[in-house]
Amino acid sequence: MTTQAEPEDRAALIGRLRAAHRMRAGSGTIGPTDRTSPRQATGPKAFDFASLPRAKTLSMQHAAMETVGLSNPFFRVHDGAPGPEPVISGAPRISFSSYNYLGLNGHPKVAAAAKDAIDRYGVSAMASRVVGGERPYHRALEERLAAHYGTEDAVVMVSGHATNVTTVGTLLDQDDLILMDQLSHNSIAEGAKLSRAHRLVFPHNDYDWLEERLTQIRGRHRHVLIAVEGLYSMDGDSPDLARLIEIKRRHDAWLMVDEAHGMGVLGPTGRGVAEAQGIDPQSVEIWMGTLSKTLAGCGGYISGSRALIDILKFSAPGFVFSVGISAPVAAAALAALEVMEAEPERVERLQANGRRLLASAREAGLDTGLSQGSAVTPAIIGDSIKAIAVSHFLLQKGVSVLPITHPAVPERQARLRFFLTSEHNAAQIDEAVGRTVESCGEVDRLVAELTGQQADLTGT
Ligand code: PMP
Repeated sequence: MTTQAEPEDRAALIGRLRAAHRMRAGSGTIGPTDRTSPRQATGPKAFDFASLPRAKTLSMQHAAMETVGLSNPFFRVHDGAPGPEPVISGAPRISFSSYNYLGLNGHPKVAAAAKDAIDRYGVSAMASRVVGGERPYHRALEERLAAHYGTEDAVVMVSGHATNVTTVGTLLDQDDLILMDQLSHNSIAEGAKLSRAHRLVFPHNDYDWLEERLTQIRGRHRHVLIAVEGLYSMDGDSPDLARLIEIKRRHDAWLMVDEAHGMGVLGPTGRGVAEAQGIDPQSVEIWMGTLSKTLAGCGGYISGSRALIDILKFSAPGFVFSVGISAPVAAAALAALEVMEAEPERVERLQANGRRLLASAREAGLDTGLSQGSAVTPAIIGDSIKAIAVSHFLLQKGVSVLPITHPAVPERQARLRFFLTSEHNAAQIDEAVGRTVESCGEVDRLVAELTGQQADLTGT
């Protein structure tokens, strides 16, 4: 494992950072927004995808990364059994980039359930459940999820993202209003666009803003939906559910809570944000979650009243016109839910890991933003290139943690995002924090050298 950049590597990196700096100075940003007018885009090469503004922006971003000599942090090949130390890009690294929150992907009971389901039902559901029919595992999973939230019913769809898009897109129309927390997931925003409802984004967890705006405009809309997350995946904090419930009751609105990152993570037994905050889950109209994180599968679900689930099952295009969830995936998710409920010590371990990472990152002087010390903690770095550079150095030191850059987070808020699992141990967490601090220092020194050399060159 390399722990320090070699002097010649450092010199080369300085040269490359310098070139990238010039590139940025010329273009204003590393991935400049292409301002090609619609007219220009219909020239003789309009048929060529490479001539599209988006393709040009991407190729400039790739070129800038290459110039800087930083490896692309995205789409890296992970190999080997799922766990905290997978083989990434050919070498074992401690990984903080998977959502395997309770270590259930790879759990023997989960794997056995999936294999058994393949033997019984095959690999694919082969058609939409509406026309292709139900299999026993569909309802078994939905009934279990409904029981988890204490709601009348639940429906499972083949993608978490599509579940949000189709649910919001189906429930609302142009007479309605959706209020989304600023940090809500892209899938909620896409569903809102599809619905053609009036859309408002409220400042993160700012309930006074929400209350005031609803007081002003509630009367103009037929239905109102407030959409929040149980655990925000970029910042690692939660909403105040009791306050939201009070607001939505006062203004006759529906509340939707996306528990993609809350399920298995929050509350003493991992039942989610309602359990963590002592709230009756039935006071929320729409519970949403994914099967792709704690539940070690793939797909999404909505849990709520029978009327809501019936509307979705008979009219949400993402359900009606899409294939049913496959047997091995449903069986794996069901088995994962059972293991989660039977082994709350996994949740305890995950929560202890979350607290340890937060405490030690803070003590080491890292900016952990709003993190409450659950399964997600950011280390806010600031500049996007710097975040990519720190992640690059960390990978060389055997730690995989991905950078999140603008526009996924606001400018100057680029960060490394640590996802924890119950399977990490204290030594791995301490190693990650130590290496992060070390890498930040190395990048800072390189930038200082670069800035110094530029001052020399310009005579300033
Ligand atoms: N909601 C949230 C909050 C998410 O973070 C994600 C994906 N990470 C989704 C929905 C979509 O889920 P999936 O990846 O399972 O499609």
